[in-house]
Amino acid sequence: MAEKLSFFQKVNTDFDKAARFTDYPPGLLEQIKICNNSCHFTFPLKRDDGTIETIHGWRAEHSHHKLPTKGGIRYSTLVDEDEIMALAALMTYKCAIVDVPFGGAKGGIQVDRNQYSLSELERITRRYTYELIQKNYIGPGVDVPAPDFGTGETEMAWIFDTYATMAPDKLNAIACVTGKPIEQNGILGRKEATGRGVVYGLQEACSIAADMKPLGLTPGLSGKTVVVQGFGNVGYHAAKFLMEADASVIGITERYAGIYNPHGFDIEKVATYREETGSIRGYPSATSIENPNEGLEWACDILVPAALENQLTAANAPRIQSAIIAEAANGPTTPAADAIFQERGIMIIPDTYLNAGGVTVSYFEWLRNLSHVQLGRLGKRFEDSTQRAMLQAVEKATGYQFSNDERQLIHGADEEDLVNSGLQDTMIRAYQELRETRMQHRSKNEDVDCRTAAFLNAIHRIAQSYMQLGIFP
Ligand code: NAD
Repeated sequence: MAEKLSFFQKVNTDFDKAARFTDYPPGLLEQIKICNNSCHFTFPLKRDDGTIETIHGWRAEHSHHKLPTKGGIRYSTLVDEDEIMALAALMTYKCAIVDVPFGGAKGGIQVDRNQYSLSELERITRRYTYELIQKNYIGPGVDVPAPDFGTGETEMAWIFDTYATMAPDKLNAIACVTGKPIEQNGILGRKEATGRGVVYGLQEACSIAADMKPLGLTPGLSGKTVVVQGFGNVGYHAAKFLMEADASVIGITERYAGIYNPHGFDIEKVATYREETGSIRGYPSATSIENPNEGLEWACDILVPAALENQLTAANAPRIQSAIIAEAANGPTTPAADAIFQERGIMIIPDTYLNAGGVTVSYFEWLRNLSHVQLGRLGKRFEDSTQRAMLQAVEKATGYQFSNDERQLIHGADEEDLVNSGLQDTMIRAYQELRETRMQHRSKNEDVDCRTAAFLNAIHRIAQSYMQLGIFP
């Protein structure tokens, strides 16, 4: 299979593979697949040393079947129009798979953030936001960005502040972007959400004994060995929650190095070491490698690519030694590598499903910002007083005195609990739907893998929306 396809063409190849199993009109399928809008803009940056540089930025809105459109903003030298359109398309399918009512979008700026000072990054981000406002590519009901590769809470705070300064609708301006810091109306659990969602998804997939058996694995995450590529927001949180689920993270790779320890890493200690030294390289009691790509080939039960697209290709796919590939990154596997993995019986849990935790919790943040009410707050006082009354009644009837710890246990859910349980429920439900689709097609002897099943679920849900819009009978 050709490896020369662009990223967007690769996403469309996966779409077409699934579309073959539907009987929707070709025109409708074309409309679902096409990228509705994309915009490239340039602006000058006066650098700290006085030189002037041209900055290139993009925003693509892939589908408006639901509004607003939603998708992260990425800072990377690889950013171009094709990459942004591909990532926007993946957002459309992802939202449909987990039933979050957004269209897909994505933005990016072609910079290596490590080459710029904080003040330069702030000027770039604010000017980029200004361009989005001018072109009507941002707004709580229009298009809502979020963090992605190379961006985080700080950039989201600058985006919000720039938008709020210029917004006509000041009241709802706060919902123009998600992934904001907690102090700026962000939501507890958003930073961790994508990594946490990856682990909820893996927990669900690995709990099914019938699916684990052909891989030679026992059910459950406990004791499974894991290699993580990319120790950024998604990779670090996935590794941390995998460790908490009793899996053993034996390999971690970063941009310029990789570390390996067959006994497993303490993720917090690796993170602290990286913070102190600026790199994971040379981490004590581990083997360090200089070429991180070699780390993808370490033997393990679960390989978690959490860096960038096109990491698993026809070139390295035959040498990958993991039973499961858990796509935390967007587009890490090329279609040619995918075909090799299918042939080799390696299970792929696709990006369109597995990394949807971020957008799911972004949805909660957006809803909360629009409602101007903290999640769980409305019912909490009522719940607390009901529970207090119940405890008192039990104490009176039995003579037993509850300890403070016991009282705490019975205390109602707070916002973070609600966010995490909503996320877990979403990931479990979406996996069950995906598996059901796969089994239905398999029972008809149709070769539908997890990725194709996920695309099929997305296509059905989007077609339904077009039906509601009256565009399709
Ligand atoms: P990030 O910038 O926080 O982290 C990415 C990490 O990968 C960085 O530490 C970087 O140094 C490292 N890296 C880059 N090239 C590498 C290589 N060749 N080998 C090993 N490591 C390498 O970005 P992130 O937010 O964690 O995003 C990672 C992936 O997850 C991207 O594909 C992104 O689109 C996807 N994703 C992110 C979110 C989110 O909420 N942030 C949501 C869904 C999907």
